[in-house]
Amino acid sequence: MINFNSEIFKNLCVVSAPSGAGKTSLIKKICSHEKISVSVSETSRKPRKGEVNGVDYTFIDKEDFMLRVQNQNYIEHALVHDNYYGTHLDSVTKQLKKDNIVILEIDYQGAEIVKKKFPLSRNIFVLPPSLEILEKRLRERGTDTEDVILKRLENAKIELSKASNYDYILINADFELAENKLLSYVLDIDMNIDEKKRKEPLIDKGF
Ligand code: 5GP
Repeated sequence: MINFNSEIFKNLCVVSAPSGAGKTSLIKKICSHEKISVSVSETSRKPRKGEVNGVDYTFIDKEDFMLRVQNQNYIEHALVHDNYYGTHLDSVTKQLKKDNIVILEIDYQGAEIVKKKFPLSRNIFVLPPSLEILEKRLRERGTDTEDVILKRLENAKIELSKASNYDYILINADFELAENKLLSYVLDIDMNIDEKKRKEPLIDKGF
């Protein structure tokens, strides 16, 4: 494992959610804040319609991805829904050194690695109001085939079971409310880890 200066990584903020929970839209809203930047991951997945290389992801082929894994270019990487995703170390440290808060939009496997490497980092899990609403949002999005939707719903159940490991849990029922909460969690960098446990109660949410 590469040795990092963990002090700068206190401004690292991981956000995870099952597909369809609204994580990307929420992050897009808050990243206009001058102190916040969002890391662009690298992936071996093919671009979806409308996705822009270097903006949504940096799209690379599997061979290049594996080479970068070998060269330890990633802070973390994981296989998600049959595709590889990784967070590039250089681009993240560059932003952190500018004293920015850097958001990593990554899955629970990546979140576990980041928390282990950088215990001072914060992580936030975004929940949909219910599994039924999650399915509805995935179908309305119209970007995935039925097979992909079913796989994502199966994975969502595994992902949801990991929510309680996060520092914060945020339920995205009312978008504006969720946006404000996310912003406050992301900016709240001076609290110690115990005080950060502000999880919303999961009782009666069906998860
Ligand atoms: P999608 O293909 O729908 O954009 O993303 C699928 C999943 O991969 C999401 O849960 C997303 O958060 C996760 N993901 C995106 N980038 C990364 C990354 O760099 N590392 C990890 N571990 N997961 C990622």
